[in-house]
Amino acid sequence: MPYRRCGKSGIQLPAISLGLWQNFGDIDQKEVFRQTLCTAFDNGITHFDLANNYGPPPGSAEQNFGAILSSDFVGHRDELLLSTKAGYTMWDGPYGDWGSRKYLMASLHQSLKRLKLDYIDIFYHHRPDPQTPLEETMGALSDIVRQGKALYVGLSNYPVDLAKKAIAILQDLRCPCLIHQPKYSMLVRNPEDGLLDVLDEEGVGMIAFSPLAQGLLTNKYLQGNIPTESRASKEHFLKSTAITPELITKLSALNEVAMQREQSLAQMAIAWLLKDERLTSVLVGARNSEQLTDSLKSLDNLSFSTVELDQIAHILAT
Ligand code: NDP
Repeated sequence: MPYRRCGKSGIQLPAISLGLWQNFGDIDQKEVFRQTLCTAFDNGITHFDLANNYGPPPGSAEQNFGAILSSDFVGHRDELLLSTKAGYTMWDGPYGDWGSRKYLMASLHQSLKRLKLDYIDIFYHHRPDPQTPLEETMGALSDIVRQGKALYVGLSNYPVDLAKKAIAILQDLRCPCLIHQPKYSMLVRNPEDGLLDVLDEEGVGMIAFSPLAQGLLTNKYLQGNIPTESRASKEHFLKSTAITPELITKLSALNEVAMQREQSLAQMAIAWLLKDERLTSVLVGARNSEQLTDSLKSLDNLSFSTVELDQIAHILAT
C-alpha cells in the first residue's frame, strides 16, 4: 500500500481508505463486514472513515466497528487512523443536527462511547451549516482537539469559498485543518473547480468520497439490469432511475478503455483519481472483501497515457 502525506501535516494516509457509510450497519451481515475490515487492514488500509449517522440504523456502524476494534483489532489501535463526523440529523430536537457547539460536542461524546474509544483521530464537520456562525463551529472543533477528544479536524462537503474561510479560522485558532472530504469521481468532478487548488495552496489534504459513484463506476449495471443486493436495488441512496440508457452508454465506453488497460472499470475509476498526487486518499466503500480486493488492484497501474486520458475526457464530456 502506498501512503501519501496529508497536506502539510505529519499524517500519511493509505492511497485507498475504507468508509463504513453503507454495508456495516445492523441490517448487514456481521461476518461479511468483519472479513472486509480484516482484508482491508491486512492490505495496508490503515484509515477507516465513519460518521455518527452511518448504519442503518444511525449509530450502528460505529457500534459494530467498536465491537470489532475491541475484538479482532486488539493491540492495533495505534496502527489505525480513525475518523468520525457530525453534521447531519442524528437525534430529535434542535441539538441533534447541523453545526452548533452543543451538537458537535454531544455527538462526539456519543460516537466515542459507541466506538469504545477515548479519542478519535480525525473529527469532521460533516456539512456546512448556513445558520450557525462558522466561528462557532470551528471553535467547537478546535476545543475538541484541545480537550484531547480528537487529534485532528476536517471539513466535509464544504464548497471552496466556505472551505477557505473555515481553514483560515482554524488557522487563527492554531488548530490547522488536516483534511477535506468532498464527493469526487469520474462522474462528479466539482473539486476540480478550485477546491483541489485551494487545498494544495493551504496545505490541507483531500480524501475523495464515493469514488465509484456508489457503484455506478463498476461493471454491475452495464447490462442494463439491477442486480439483487446492489445499492440501486435498495432504492435508498442510489435510485434505479439514475441508471439511464445514456449513462450505460457512457459507462460501457469507459469500460472499453479500462479493458484496454487490463483493469476493471472500478480499478480504472480509482486509478484515475489517484493519478493526481494532490489527492491524499480515495475513500472506497465495499460490500464484501471480494469487492475490496478487486479495488485494491487499481494500485497496480496508476499511470495513464495521453491517449487514454484524451479518450476518457472525451467520453466524460459527452
Ligand atoms: P463507492 O463509490 O466506493 O461505492 C461503494 C459501492 O460500490 C459498494 O457498495 C458496491 O456497490 C460498489 N463497489 C465497490 N467496489 C466494487 C468493486 N470492486 N466492484 C464492483 N462493485 C464495487 O463509495 P461509497 O458511496 O460507499 O462511499 C465511500 C465512503 O465515503 C463512505 O463509506 C463514507 O465513509 C464516505 N462518504 C462520505 C460522505 C460525506 O458526506 N462525507 C457521503 C458519502 C460517503 P454494491 O453494494 O451495489 O455492490
